[in-house]
Amino acid sequence: MEVPGQARDGDTTFTTRFAPSPTGPLHLGHAYSAILAHDMARAAGGRFLLRMEDTDLDRCRPDYEAGIVEDLTWLGLSWDGPIHRQSEHIAGYNARLEPLATRGLLYPCSCTRSDIRAALSAPQEGVQHNVYPGICRGRPMETRLPGDALRLDLAAALEALAGADLGFTETGPAHQGRHRVEPDTAMRDIGDVVLSRKGEDIVAYFLASAFDDADQRISHVIRGEDLFAFTPVQVILQHLLGLPTPVYHHHRLIRDEAGKRLAKRDDARALAKFRAEGASPQDIRRMVGL
Ligand code: GLU
Repeated sequence: MEVPGQARDGDTTFTTRFAPSPTGPLHLGHAYSAILAHDMARAAGGRFLLRMEDTDLDRCRPDYEAGIVEDLTWLGLSWDGPIHRQSEHIAGYNARLEPLATRGLLYPCSCTRSDIRAALSAPQEGVQHNVYPGICRGRPMETRLPGDALRLDLAAALEALAGADLGFTETGPAHQGRHRVEPDTAMRDIGDVVLSRKGEDIVAYFLASAFDDADQRISHVIRGEDLFAFTPVQVILQHLLGLPTPVYHHHRLIRDEAGKRLAKRDDARALAKFRAEGASPQDIRRMVGL
């Protein structure tokens, strides 16, 4: 049976998605991202899908999802097929990690944030401070306790991928071209990332999103420039899990007058507020430079 909005094997239709986390109201930055992805898909005669990245059950709320749907509809955007909710697939994401555990590429980790901070000596200006220092690396999977996270052993993963073409094509304005994931850079900037957290039943955003981009046959990932830095993690995971790598298009961010990136808490720029004040969808397009 043909499912609306879902591609068939061998299908090369341009397919993209808008993938908000329903943790607050949409603001102008989301509007730009959604409109851009929608318009690019429609211009290419392709598909535009809507995905809720709602694995953080503490922060995501159904009323935020309802608000997102209302805002997108008001903007005049339509998506193909039903909304995909990550929260409905968490057991599946975790099950699909199993082969990586079997290959010895994962380890359990019980470190708290303060353990990690204490182990990171003299962090330097400009260096990412969140690279895990490897305290639990080498722990066997059998020692996993309730509440332990699962981390990727990045050095082992890169070794397993030696010789693979770890790269991606970027079509966004700031980084256009072909990019290679360099093992040394990945070790320095990414490290042993958390892929899943037991007890809390959380899977990391870049894991769930790598699975979904493959399952939903996303040919082009269109998203904010702030996520460019996460792309190498996703490319590494795609190779480990046998998933295809889509084309990436990281777009400029909408900033406030002070040049700061808009955040969910910027209620002053929430779409619902502009709408209540009588703005039209065309006004929103103009405000974000479309
Ligand atoms: N859920 C992410 C966000 O709200 C978007 C992730 C993506 O587009 O890959 O920023």
